Amino acid sequence: MSDRYSRQQLFKPIGPDGQQKIGKKHVLVVGAGALGTGNAEGLVRAGVGKLTIVDRDYVEWSNLQRQQLYVEADAEERMPKAVAAEKRLTQINAEVNIDARVLDVGVQELEQLVEGVDLIIDATDNFDIRMMVNDISQKFEIPWIYGACVGSYGISYTILPGETPCLHCLLETVPIGGMTCDTVGIISPAVNMVVSYQLTEALKILVEDFQALRRKLVSFDLWNNQHTAINVDKIKKETCLSCGTNRTYPNLAFENQTKTAVLCGRDTVQIRPPVQQERNLDQLAFMLSNQGGKVDQNPYLLSFSIEDHRLVVFKDGRVLIHGTKDIAEAKTLYHRYIG
Ligand SMILES: [Zn+2]
Repeated sequence: MSDRYSRQQLFKPIGPDGQQKIGKKHVLVVGAGALGTGNAEGLVRAGVGKLTIVDRDYVEWSNLQRQQLYVEADAEERMPKAVAAEKRLTQINAEVNIDARVLDVGVQELEQLVEGVDLIIDATDNFDIRMMVNDISQKFEIPWIYGACVGSYGISYTILPGETPCLHCLLETVPIGGMTCDTVGIISPAVNMVVSYQLTEALKILVEDFQALRRKLVSFDLWNNQHTAINVDKIKKETCLSCGTNRTYPNLAFENQTKTAVLCGRDTVQIRPPVQQERNLDQLAFMLSNQGGKVDQNPYLLSFSIEDHRLVVFKDGRVLIHGTKDIAEAKTLYHRYIG
């Protein structure tokens, strides 16, 4: 056990002092998909003190090609990603305090989750959540590392509140918003590359070697052999509503209006009930068993297949409606069977 981190400590910029620091730090990873599982595994192997990982989804077969913590049984059983990730991460390093949450993060959730956190890693595929993370980072003065990938393309940037421009500042200058994952697919090396950028920056922050941080926005296209690093220091705007002088944190304001969302990459609509309340899944399973569809259940969620649709209900009341991108149709199904 004692030489567990020996190779990392031999690396001079970390050393025994850096290792001690890593062991005292708390990192929040938002999302347990491709980027989230890669970052979480790296941090846990590196010996981070505490890791909080949150995800709202469950494991599907199409995830296994690139989401490195999951195995076939997780997809078979539709395990929530946070639960499956926690299990695997604990097997990898039982010394790390792992706090895994099956949760759809909104502003309130994020504000609670960042308590005592030293660093946030962005591993979400959702633009709204990413912008929320941006404003939370500014409000609570916690650094965060942006990362995204699609196809063979990836991008990453490290944001230090009070020093670097924030993602809101960058938006007007750098094309960041338009990435969608459903039409062009993704290859795993693009994921691994973004994870490498994020993890390296994370280690620098955890050992407090801020001088070593990259300070440039990197992007690459592995298939087309392109690589760029843009100096964005001058893009920081005093008028920015997220990090400027008269900031209002606009991405933390509209949260309660976005109850229904079409999920990235899938024929799926998510509906959150207006008031969060725990669902009795056994009772719901009993009611649905007379509706002519097929009901499957595990301790975390209930799945109800009917005709071309599948409705997945989580204990917190959230419902995923598969087989449609039409919000009105999804709401009809929701009210007919669930709400
Ligand atoms: Zn800004």
